[in-house]
Amino acid sequence: SGGRWKLNPQQLLEKSKKYMWLPFTQMSDYERDPLIIESGEGVVVKDIYGKEYLDGNSSLWLNVHGHRKAEIDEAIRKQLESIAHSTLLGAANVPSVLLAERLINIAPEGLTRVFYSDSGATAVEIAVKMAYQYWQNKGRSEKTKFVTLSNGYHGDTVGTMSVGSIDLYHKVYTSLLFDALVVPFPAVYRHPSGDAQTVCNESLQSLRELFEKRHSEIAGLTLEPLIQGAGGMNTMPRGYLKGVESLCREFDILLIADEVATGFGRTGKMFAVEHEGVRPDLMTVAKGLTGGYLPVAATLATEQVYDAFYGEYEEMKTFFHGHSYTGNQLGCAAALANLDIFERERLVEQASDKAKLLSELLHDLGELDHVGDIRQCGLICGIELVQDQKTKVPFPFKWRVGYRSTLKMRELGMLTRPLGDVIVFMPPLAATEEQLGEMVRILKEGIVWAT
Ligand code: PLP
Repeated sequence: SGGRWKLNPQQLLEKSKKYMWLPFTQMSDYERDPLIIESGEGVVVKDIYGKEYLDGNSSLWLNVHGHRKAEIDEAIRKQLESIAHSTLLGAANVPSVLLAERLINIAPEGLTRVFYSDSGATAVEIAVKMAYQYWQNKGRSEKTKFVTLSNGYHGDTVGTMSVGSIDLYHKVYTSLLFDALVVPFPAVYRHPSGDAQTVCNESLQSLRELFEKRHSEIAGLTLEPLIQGAGGMNTMPRGYLKGVESLCREFDILLIADEVATGFGRTGKMFAVEHEGVRPDLMTVAKGLTGGYLPVAATLATEQVYDAFYGEYEEMKTFFHGHSYTGNQLGCAAALANLDIFERERLVEQASDKAKLLSELLHDLGELDHVGDIRQCGLICGIELVQDQKTKVPFPFKWRVGYRSTLKMRELGMLTRPLGDVIVFMPPLAATEEQLGEMVRILKEGIVWAT
């Protein structure tokens, strides 16, 4: 084992514990239950002992076609024969040009320009800076504030944490962040009415009140369309997204749709905003853009936004932002191959069919004593575990029910990570019916075991 490095698994585990510091991981947890992945094929990944796991969260919400998809592997190899990377500062590169055109062709109407970066967080950071500078460039210097939804998540950089709103991740940094205006997410599960339409109307009303009071200071609103990911897989009532769009138009506020998790077919459409015919001013994509292969992200903008930055250098309207690996050729080549497969295999339609099947499969889980809510949007699912179904009282934090159930799932042959006591289930679009069935079986066993 240890691949071509010929190290035994025990040595590798010891080295990982000695030298590494993993993201979003309490390292004492890792020391107790370490894991090193060595290879993958299709929707299965293998650890250094050769144990196989179904990829139950698409390697953190990004893998689309499975691992080692021949066409993407080949596209990267072919690109290597030309060049691996050159800077995008002041010079485009071939695959980045072609990908920009492809993205604009599939993006919601109105988006005409592609600005590259290398992670979801950087794509959102860029959208926030663009929205801010847009108003500065237009001489509306008082429009500096951002509105965001409670429990929103847009990444872990200082700017994206500022428009984020998850106490567990963000509270400790409060004095480091800029203040965003937070409006309540239209969550139905614990709302006293339990009625989606009521929740939708109330939430839009509170947004309207905020806009009426403060629109002249507000630059933009950020949201995750249709379903909030890291905030607990919270689905929006139908009509909310469209309502937010109308209010943004009415009050001259830029709408930033963060499609980092929802983009590329996961919700049953190419982009989640399409479900309600919403046309954002700025839209961010990452994760599934390369099929889950390489770190490429992008911020898409309308011509109106782009125009506000266009002029002679001396006019000081330039967008001074970029990263070393912005528009990396290998990544863009992978993304082009990814989009070819989407087209050829009609993946978006397939995802929509698979979502229906998944909803049937998940239905049974509702009968388990401690499953409080099952939230699904396409192939994005969250299963909330509660101590008491009737009162919806959560399990005590210290019990770590979500974490323990996913550890059990790992033992049973599926990888995923919880969000508190919400179990994330986000299979690759390529998962077959049989594999989906097997994953749901493991989900169930893991939940039963831990609760
Ligand atoms: N925005 C959303 C909606 C996300 O779900 C994520 C990641 O989970 C991000 C932004 C940040 O993306 P990245 O982890 O690539 O920085």
